[in-house]
Amino acid sequence: MSVDVIIVGAGIAGLMCAYDCVRAGQAVLIVYQGDLEHTSSFYAQGGIAAAWLDSDSTAQHMTDTMMAGDGLCDPRVVQDFCDHAPAFIQRLIDLGVPFDQDAGGYRLTKEGAHEHSRIFHVKDHTGTSIIQTLGHHLKDHPLVQWENHALQGVLQSSDQSRVIGVRFNDQNYLAPNTVLATGGFSNIFSRSTNPRPNIGEGIALAYAVGAPVGDLEFIQFHPTVFCTDSHPPLLISEALRGEGAFLVNKNNERFMKKYHELEDLAPRDVVSRAMIQESGPKLNIVPLMTSIQYRFPTIYHALQARGFSQHDIEIPVQPLVHYTLGGIVAKPNGQTEKPGLFAIGECSLTGFHGANRLASNSLLEAGIMGQRCASFLIQHAKSHHHNDTSHHLTSMDPLASEDLIFLGHLTNQALGVIRSSNELTSAIDSLGGHPQKDHPMFLFLMAILHSALHRKESRGGHYRSDFPDTHANARHSLVAHSHELLHVDAI
Ligand SMILES: Cc1cc2nc3c(=O)[nH]c(=O)nc-3n(C[C@H](O)[C@H](O)[C@H](O)COP(=O)(O)OP(=O)(O)OC[C@H]3O[C@@H](n4cnc5c(N)ncnc54)[C@H](O)[C@@H]3O)c2cc1C
Repeated sequence: MSVDVIIVGAGIAGLMCAYDCVRAGQAVLIVYQGDLEHTSSFYAQGGIAAAWLDSDSTAQHMTDTMMAGDGLCDPRVVQDFCDHAPAFIQRLIDLGVPFDQDAGGYRLTKEGAHEHSRIFHVKDHTGTSIIQTLGHHLKDHPLVQWENHALQGVLQSSDQSRVIGVRFNDQNYLAPNTVLATGGFSNIFSRSTNPRPNIGEGIALAYAVGAPVGDLEFIQFHPTVFCTDSHPPLLISEALRGEGAFLVNKNNERFMKKYHELEDLAPRDVVSRAMIQESGPKLNIVPLMTSIQYRFPTIYHALQARGFSQHDIEIPVQPLVHYTLGGIVAKPNGQTEKPGLFAIGECSLTGFHGANRLASNSLLEAGIMGQRCASFLIQHAKSHHHNDTSHHLTSMDPLASEDLIFLGHLTNQALGVIRSSNELTSAIDSLGGHPQKDHPMFLFLMAILHSALHRKESRGGHYRSDFPDTHANARHSLVAHSHELLHVDAI
């Protein structure tokens, strides 16, 4: 089948884009790895933010987003996404997402650094409901071709002026437009809250074909993750703290008072650093003992599967890599600097989240970008069919497991909650001396490490023990294919 659009990734960004494209009659090829259940979108528990209640406002949602973003949000982009948030929620409701309600209307909750209750949720499996709803609409659609394969490369026209398709399953697939919706790169670390495919291969390939990437050093750790050796890490949603749970140390002291006025609902980077200072941090869930199994059934059952009883009141928790702020520089409609190549969702960098993401703003950004990208593609449909049979392939061999272990170890050491020049320099030396140093994933990790080394300040999701202060001027890090790192005022 000849297709109008290739979408790589089947999370909320990719599926939303696909849904709007096929409604307009465009033929879509969706390439994804694993299954729909193993996307960050499917894992999302807490919900999706929108100023909905009369007591709330877009202006307040903007303020909270920009406070979390620590000087690096683009106010126009923040206004745009916050303005459109209620309409996007309405869109999801119309599509059939069953957000929780009670007698007073939608039951909205609060998460860290939100001034108001504005999080729409479906119990604690909001992302699952959204992906199931979109998947249901797309599953048997005649204009959708599903391909379960890892990306092996990006194709450009022979003069390398335009992306004209992708390679997977040892074959080339051409289309007028290619959309990357491949999520973030948290799983490049040896342990994260993310599914296995999210190691950033889409971003690495975009970088390899010359699309600028930026703000790669900003990485969000989720403070409350329960880790055991026998099970995958279990994220304990911030909504539990929003509804009364609180952190204690090994002496049972509520320590967050010492670190931030918002206490347990302080921004995630503040909570994560506080937890590293304290010993034996645990989440006390006494205020939720009667409600947890109804309000947070997924977490409750996952805890039981890990040996918890309904009488246990404390969960040992630790910060774990969760969300990557940086990515492929893109407009809110996904347009990148490379003609024919679009980036939407967590793999992109729009300026919405800045240096740190406000909880529940990422499903929002990814979904709206999916819609916007589809509108753009529909308007510009078929204007760029590629007739030239020659092409330029930028390929990426899958990394051997020992290389992935090497990269995981390196990122754990150098790019943790607290970083320093020594660790970053030593990681750069190890990477530069590795036989695989020219592989796109190694080059991408090199760009991340350089961005972290050269940001000689602490801000949002980047904290340096050797540079703990924040500069007065907030600047973005930008890396183009030339590997030159620039610090710029706007992206
Ligand atoms: C545990 C957890 C809880 C979260 N909770 C919330 C929340 O409550 N609210 C909120 O707003 N955000 C939350 N987030 C963040 C949010 O879920 C993500 O930012 C968002 O879902 C990203 O959507 P996406 O469509 O960009 O990417 P994803 O949903 O990550 O999808 C990426 C897709 O790309 C595919 N892919 C990746 N690499 C390749 C490759 N090389 N080849 C082929 N396919 C590839 C994957 O298979 C997948 O289909 C949470 C994240 C996690 C991990």
